[in-house]
Amino acid sequence: MTTVRLECIRYGKRPDQPGGARISPLSGGFGGAHCHRTSEECGLYAKSRYRVPVKIQLLPSSFDEHGIASLEQRLSCYVVDDCVAIDAGSVALAVNSAQRGAVRDIIITHPHIDHIATLPIFIDDVFATLQEPVRVHATAEVITLLERDIFNWTVYPRFTELSNDRTRVMEYVPFRPAEEFAVKHLKVTAIPVNHSVPTVGLIFSDGETTVGFSSDTGATENFWHAVNRLPRIDALLIEASFPTALQQLAVISGHHTPASLRRELHKLIHAPLDVLVVHLKPAYREMLVRELVALDIPNLSVMQPGREYAW
Ligand SMILES: [Zn+2]
Ligand SMILES: [Zn+2]
Repeated sequence: MTTVRLECIRYGKRPDQPGGARISPLSGGFGGAHCHRTSEECGLYAKSRYRVPVKIQLLPSSFDEHGIASLEQRLSCYVVDDCVAIDAGSVALAVNSAQRGAVRDIIITHPHIDHIATLPIFIDDVFATLQEPVRVHATAEVITLLERDIFNWTVYPRFTELSNDRTRVMEYVPFRPAEEFAVKHLKVTAIPVNHSVPTVGLIFSDGETTVGFSSDTGATENFWHAVNRLPRIDALLIEASFPTALQQLAVISGHHTPASLRRELHKLIHAPLDVLVVHLKPAYREMLVRELVALDIPNLSVMQPGREYAW
């Protein structure tokens, strides 16, 4: 049994989180209300009279010898408000039972295995209990690749052709880059970024809180133009995969180092905001953490798997 510490952040960030003990930007009247959306609330947020923060959790994907989630990130899956997954690397491994029952929308930024590894297993897990399909949101290009390379009756079944007693179990919902689309209570815009395969970064908002997620990318302009056009942004999840000594490898493979991350953040006009660094290659994690600390950028920290962040 895996023990993953899941903390409810009712009033914003924990005092020991980088960025300080400040209250997240709640507009009052929140104390005593639900600390986050239940699965039932997830699609009903517009009707809520309380300001409910957007909550994001990077699901763990590595475990120590006792089965406890470790800080190393090998797979990518970010669960927003317990009901929308961004990428699906560890979705089947590390969702809690409530999330397993509520996540029916999964946005795939690109088809690399660390971002889709357990998507087939997740659909297998929930197959018999589904009342509605699992909707996989992706560009047409990525959907074609998923059908060709994963859901091809060889690697795994083509779930879009299968149903349980009540519903088809999986369906694709294509989106176009730069055109806003809705996923549950979120408005999402996908921006093509600079990676070795077709990849989008995401900007999503519940109408109050706006978050940017770079996905896997090297230096890019379009993503920053899109972020800078926003009136405000509350948090940015951005990757740094390789240490600066491996800058050439990072450029070739479409990733960042701490040095290129710093250059990218100079393109951002919004400040201050929380910057959470993700996708640190486990082999270089200690070095990356040292380099990121040395950047001395206010409100920048490494995102911890399992922890809930709220804005
Ligand atoms: Zn990738
Ligand atoms: Zn990746």
